[in-house]
Amino acid sequence: MNILIIPAAGSGTRFGSAKPKQYLPLAGVPILARTVAVAEQCPSIDTIVIAADAQFHQAITAMIAEHDIQKPLVLVEGGSERQHSIFRALHTPEAQQADLIAIHDAVRPFITPNFVESLVAAARTHGAVVPGLMPKETVKEVDAAGSVQTTHNRSALRLIQTPQVFQREILWRAYCKAQEQHFLGTDDASVVEFAGYTVKVMEGLEANIKITTPADWTFAETLLQHR
Ligand code: C5P
Repeated sequence: MNILIIPAAGSGTRFGSAKPKQYLPLAGVPILARTVAVAEQCPSIDTIVIAADAQFHQAITAMIAEHDIQKPLVLVEGGSERQHSIFRALHTPEAQQADLIAIHDAVRPFITPNFVESLVAAARTHGAVVPGLMPKETVKEVDAAGSVQTTHNRSALRLIQTPQVFQREILWRAYCKAQEQHFLGTDDASVVEFAGYTVKVMEGLEANIKITTPADWTFAETLLQHR
């Protein structure tokens, strides 16, 4: 039994809308509904767990029914940080019984079932798998004043996306260790790395953008027009 956890409890302060962007319709369909609809088409995903602010639970249930999602859905309250939202989802009986756990940001609706399936398959072998892309731009590290300290070797860098897929035991142990030692990472893989496990990077998907700013929204609409 495999599950997909969708953290959707962000307030979207960088976006500037009254409602968090994951609930806003993108070309008529809320971003979260688009993301869940892809999960619905993934044979390897049995159950979907969404971490969201309790005030949106009813709306999510209605949205899921409206989009004819048949897979079992579990809703949990979100946390103050993304990592806390995930940790709550990991406490559900569905997560405790899972073999593999995929975690995918609500605000990345452009994944495909094939992409998810290939990551899940790789996680069976490698234990911890994430998608990543080589940066197109040169990446420099700067100090507080904005002066360049280092220019990194681009070929050794990856911009990491979701879904990130893990064997349940690895993810659970890593999250418990992070909780005990007050480690806060920016993605799930960094929690797993902190706990000492090896994370395998697979080829990411260029269209798999994280809708964060109003410019991303415009780009997302353009992507949909060209599909
Ligand atoms: O904040 P960030 O851009 O990293 O958010 C990535 C994903 O994590 C979004 O889908 C957002 O809704 C979710 N999130 C969450 N709980 C938080 C903050 C973010 O589930 N406290």
